[in-house]
Amino acid sequence: MLVTYYSKNRLQQATAFGASLLMLLMFSSTSAQPAMIESPLSSQEQEIVDWVDDQEAEMVALLERLVNINTGSLNKAGVNEVIRLLNSELLQLGFSSRTLPGDVIDMPSCPGSEYTIDVADHLLATREGSGKRLLMIGHVDTVFPLNSPFQTFSREGDTAYGPGVSDMKGGLVVMLYALKALNHFNQLDGKSISILLNSDEEVGSLSSRKYVEQQAALHDYGLVYESSGNNRLTRARKGLGQARFVVNGRAAHAGGAHQQGRSAIKELAYKIVEIENMTDYESGVTVNVGVINGGEARNTIAPCAEALVDLRYPMPQQGLDAVSRWEEIFNSVYSYPVDSGELTTNSWTSLHRPPKIPTEESDALLNKTIGIGRLLGQELTVADSGGGTDGSLTQAAGLPTLDSLGSDGNGAHSKREQGRISSLVERAQLSAVLIARLAEER
Ligand SMILES: [Zn+2]
Repeated sequence: MLVTYYSKNRLQQATAFGASLLMLLMFSSTSAQPAMIESPLSSQEQEIVDWVDDQEAEMVALLERLVNINTGSLNKAGVNEVIRLLNSELLQLGFSSRTLPGDVIDMPSCPGSEYTIDVADHLLATREGSGKRLLMIGHVDTVFPLNSPFQTFSREGDTAYGPGVSDMKGGLVVMLYALKALNHFNQLDGKSISILLNSDEEVGSLSSRKYVEQQAALHDYGLVYESSGNNRLTRARKGLGQARFVVNGRAAHAGGAHQQGRSAIKELAYKIVEIENMTDYESGVTVNVGVINGGEARNTIAPCAEALVDLRYPMPQQGLDAVSRWEEIFNSVYSYPVDSGELTTNSWTSLHRPPKIPTEESDALLNKTIGIGRLLGQELTVADSGGGTDGSLTQAAGLPTLDSLGSDGNGAHSKREQGRISSLVERAQLSAVLIARLAEER
């Protein structure tokens, strides 16, 4: 039998962040140990797998139901509805649950464009037991607000379309059916499993982060149900940061009193150039000013202008360095030769996702999952990603974590979002066996 587990060699071939020596060093220093070959499926496991085979219609029906409830991160009513629905499913599986309160997060903004993130409550469901403690994480929110034209589920053959169909309502269905399968054969009894469903992942888990990190400290393995493309599992991820900053200047008539004005837009433009120049493909650090807004009228010197900035970074120190550089830029005035104190900047910054740096333990978990995939006839591949998940938080908190355990799909965060329906069953089978085996590890 040919078994190629994830090891340093494959790692060097697969490093996907270009010719980044830094990334290579980072990975090499935590080389993967080839995992033990997984023992064949037991007759009980085979029964579980067969049971899931018969659930596709129910899984698709649940996916349709979840997708048709809008859960844009700011749509509290929709988010609450999906949390309630999943909570009642989990209660039926013998979990006990409690609400983790959301938060209101205020951001600096120009007058008239106030931006507040009012985060809905999150849910923690637990089953107490002995053995290894598993933490399963999924988010119920999507990037599609209530007024998005992309709202409903549709299906063509093996492809499902709709907001969150793969990111990550498909993953929620996978998670739930893996648990249902185990429960059907009384295999949840005695296992220590927690489910954390958060409602703000798509806005950076700004409220749920503390709960994710608290739970990471109380568990032995983290399993995250973000979608994957093409049977892929994700090994390493870049860190993410963000900034929102507001430049305040002084309004004046653009004709009659031009010299008395201090243009916030002009200052913003200078800052944008400084910020964009932080991108360095060699080191893997990229910065993107993704949204700008400002000014009042063509013939008014702009009193206010604001911008939203995205940061990706491979190593923790690079994130800290980037935030220091932002602070310098925010505290400087570039646009007028003499700083009269009338141009000021308010800023909010967050390194909301640390880099996901593989460890021996997380590689062992990855290899185990690949091994179980083989038993199920699933050829799982491994890739790195420039995008972060809650798995980056748990891994950085010391919990060996595997993410991309959700369903296959692509086009996430766009109206082209789609998912492969047959992957729902495949991934639920994979997770059911993985959970059973992890929970029984000594
Ligand atoms: Zn997601």
